[in-house]
Amino acid sequence: MSDSKYKVSALAYRPQRFSEVVSQEFATKTLKNAILSGKTAHSYLFSGPRGTGKTTIARIFAKALNCLSPENGEPCNKCENCIEITNGSHPDVFELDAASNRGIDDVRAIQDAAKYYPVKSKFKFFIVDEVHMLTMQAFNALLKTLEEPPPYLIFILATTNPEKVPATILSRCQKFGLHRLKIEEITEQIQKIAKSEKIMIDSESLFLISKLGDGALRDALGIFDLAVSYCGNKIVIDNLKDFLNIPDKEIYFKISGFIRNADTKSILEYFSELLEQGFDLITFYNGITEHFRNILLVIITSNPKQLDESDNIREKYVTEAKEFTVDGILRLMKILLENEARLKYSGNQKILFEVILTELCRIEKEVYDIGVLISELEAIKKKTPDSLRFRSATPVVSDSSMPQVKNIKNDSEVVARLKQIFVLEEHFIPDLKNNNGSR
Ligand SMILES: [Zn+2]
Repeated sequence: MSDSKYKVSALAYRPQRFSEVVSQEFATKTLKNAILSGKTAHSYLFSGPRGTGKTTIARIFAKALNCLSPENGEPCNKCENCIEITNGSHPDVFELDAASNRGIDDVRAIQDAAKYYPVKSKFKFFIVDEVHMLTMQAFNALLKTLEEPPPYLIFILATTNPEKVPATILSRCQKFGLHRLKIEEITEQIQKIAKSEKIMIDSESLFLISKLGDGALRDALGIFDLAVSYCGNKIVIDNLKDFLNIPDKEIYFKISGFIRNADTKSILEYFSELLEQGFDLITFYNGITEHFRNILLVIITSNPKQLDESDNIREKYVTEAKEFTVDGILRLMKILLENEARLKYSGNQKILFEVILTELCRIEKEVYDIGVLISELEAIKKKTPDSLRFRSATPVVSDSSMPQVKNIKNDSEVVARLKQIFVLEEHFIPDLKNNNGSR
């Protein structure tokens, strides 16, 4: 099924020029301008989530500065220097992964190498990835080099956790924060790659893969590669979902339908059906939370465009949002968020999941019941003369001028109802409780 000539996208399509970097224009433009004006700094810090292009931009920068025939601030990608940097074999461009080389000796090796002039280019580069992993001793050693760098030396420090880098280091660096990519930006890249690899992919699959990348192009391309290896040259949503084994959006709409109808029986039966399909429970749970968050967002903003969903699904959210109130969704989300960690570490996820679903179904109903009880009570208060309240077991005097109260026949039943209210939700009606106590 798979095409043996197919190369891993994240590698084969890695940007080789600033203009090919997706998004991150602020960083690429500023660096290019620095190159053109000859005003580059000696140390840079690139921070941002994984897969957003930190080391890719660092390598392009190293190439552009050492290129033998640069083109308007961009590397030519054809000269000896460019080719060697791309291959990782250039003698003046060093890459160090601080996650596995984090000690003082590793930094001393850099310091030693930094003493010598570049072998075959103008600048000597040290690209240190995950720099926040260095030990404090190693940071102190690095700081010395950053404080008095020789003119040919450029440091590029990359990190996913800039807050863990000491302020003394940060203050020496020109800083660039790289951001997560938008879904549309990832979609566009995958579409380009699919086109040039002659792979047919439907729009739903394209959207799903882009979304699963969670802002990291590299991750999305990794999923795309897996999809190609499974589906071959034709990726369609049904096959893709089978392969990824992720719940369809429809499932969540069904779940919220059961919850608003307080249909505990159906939700538990449906849950058991879903379990047989072998979904990962945590993914499913997070899906439910995200679903209610989406509904909340649509109720509050009236703007479904804010949702990271396809147009078809956005429309469904608009319809679903009409069935809920903000308060109602907040109550549901409170339960979901409170139980999130419990579920993750539970020894019996299935049972806890069932309990949570039951709770979600009941909460709307309970609030509704209390609402009904309170209005019934209001009506009783209007109807019952003071002297009779809470004393007589005889039926309340029928008076056609008073509003008729359904379901409650005598005041012993009123007392029972009141008790029910107090036990259920004491804080719902504190004033009423005080009045009762004073009698
Ligand atoms: Zn070149």
